[in-house]
Amino acid sequence: MNTWFTEQQTESVRLGLKISSIVWQQRTPFQELVVAETDAFGRMLVLDGAVQTTVADEFVYHEMITHVPLFAHPHPRKVAVIGGGDGGAIREILKHPEVEEAHLVEIDGQVIDAARRFFPTISRDLDDKRAFLHVTDGIEWVRQARGFDVMIVDSTDPVGPAEGLFAPPFYRSIAEALNPDGILVAQSESPFLNASVVRRVVSGVRASFPVTRLYLAAIPTYPSGLWSFTLGSKTALNAHGRHQQEVLTAPTRYWTPALQESCFALPRFVEELIG
Ligand code: SAM
Repeated sequence: MNTWFTEQQTESVRLGLKISSIVWQQRTPFQELVVAETDAFGRMLVLDGAVQTTVADEFVYHEMITHVPLFAHPHPRKVAVIGGGDGGAIREILKHPEVEEAHLVEIDGQVIDAARRFFPTISRDLDDKRAFLHVTDGIEWVRQARGFDVMIVDSTDPVGPAEGLFAPPFYRSIAEALNPDGILVAQSESPFLNASVVRRVVSGVRASFPVTRLYLAAIPTYPSGLWSFTLGSKTALNAHGRHQQEVLTAPTRYWTPALQESCFALPRFVEELIG
């Protein structure tokens, strides 16, 4: 097979990846799910035409969406991931020995099934005794959740069931579900290609969290390769915190103690974008 997968990222930008096979394809109640083998990035999960994760670059996203908030928190014991059905965020969270509960709240159980079947290195810790899976809408689930230290929004793009995950009332519910020193991180898309989404997430988080910071990471298969995450904290952040002791039970490949601090240093155009 010599064919190309094309993601239409905006009206005028496409990503092309050469694929050797389509491993799995199904219509779930929520989205079109495809697993394909790419030449350059290994096995890839695609939802509704958008790349979610590849075996070769997933570590960047999963490490940065988890270790930054977990090390910014003084004692992350109870953590939740909204979305994230591939299991990569849970794998990283469980590298923190102080975490007692890592809840995964994924609306589409068939994403979890596909991850278990086709992405064992990403989903491998979903059966850990500290992992709790909830197949339900994250918006509803967060409304009744309480007592969390860190909540992570690992969502698809802001269309369909994920749209509400980018709206101010959702960030307000998260603030209520968090303890007084709680921290939220939400993936907030590309400053180059999704500037309005970046602004929307930052202003929504600012409305509910006194401390709001944006940070960046380089993710080659996401639109433009430059990806943003928005962190909201209910209290002042400790820039020189626990991360310098590096207490993880397994190594990281992207996150480092130095990056914990430097990822918040923004290029001028991104500073200007978020005002
Ligand atoms: N890393 C990815 C990215 O940025 O492309 C996101 C990965 S993860 C697979 C995203 C998940 O969010 C999907 O599996 C989707 O089903 C889930 N999702 C979308 N809307 C949701 C909602 N309202 N509640 C819970 N999960 C949701």
